[in-house]
Amino acid sequence: MWHKGSSCTSESLSLDSIELILKNISKATRVEGVTITGGEPLLRKDTSEIANICRKNGLKAAIATNGTLLTKAMVNELTASGIQHFDIGFTDPSHETRMAMTEAARSGCTVTASICIHNNNFRRIGALSEMAAALGADAIALNRFVPTGMGAKNSSHLEIGIEDLLYALEMANQTALKSGIYIYTGIPVEPCIASNREFPEITFSTCQCGHSKWAIGPNGNLRTCEQNEKELGSLLEYSFSELLERNTTEISNFRRWRPSENCMFCDWRKDCNGGCRFN
Ligand code: SF4
Ligand code: SF4
Repeated sequence: MWHKGSSCTSESLSLDSIELILKNISKATRVEGVTITGGEPLLRKDTSEIANICRKNGLKAAIATNGTLLTKAMVNELTASGIQHFDIGFTDPSHETRMAMTEAARSGCTVTASICIHNNNFRRIGALSEMAAALGADAIALNRFVPTGMGAKNSSHLEIGIEDLLYALEMANQTALKSGIYIYTGIPVEPCIASNREFPEITFSTCQCGHSKWAIGPNGNLRTCEQNEKELGSLLEYSFSELLERNTTEISNFRRWRPSENCMFCDWRKDCNGGCRFN
């Protein structure tokens, strides 16, 4: 479940509507699980009930949170309701977020620390990664800054240059080597910029939008990706499979990678898939 941002005027979905959507997507053969996200999902008082509905419908449930409201009691409530994975925003972790990481790690669930790499923090990626590992995270997702949503307004300050991105990846690679923590790129970095050859401890991903990962907006509409504002239709009206069928062209156009001239003779072309559609 995705929220556009603090300026969004959409009402939150009622618990009944969320239940309808979760029942709907649980019938699709390819859907394994759901990440409850936002905005900040713990601002809702019924997040654990949503997790419980996921469980009742056979869906694995994870939560992506900034950790500020993730107290020990909340970790216990969520895990008792079926949450199996915590994704905690760790770009600029507050005391509460660091405590949340510790409690989530103690719960027995898997925990990912999500770190956005941008122009103002790339020198601290090593320290942030080490802190996440020391607090018990199982994995670190390194997300190169994407200039969309709220980030678009500040892209001139936050957009990161290639040299600085490589520096951040080197620091993360050293952390993975020292601590053994699993580190991967949540937002893909194209192989012509960096790859497993230079950073063997980091797993490099490709874009999964409109394929194995989808987003549901605050009004129940399906999207290819949380960064893509184009809506494919309502999961309160249509089944997940129907929406995929009705939007075949839109989805393939969004997923289609348009190689640049530089790509024509590139050795990595077969495996590349072109990185994030918004970079
Ligand atoms: S195919 Fe293009 S984008 Fe991909 S690694 Fe090669 S040059 Fe980079
Ligand atoms: S386009 Fe792909 S890589 Fe970019 S944010 Fe969406 S899912 Fe992630």
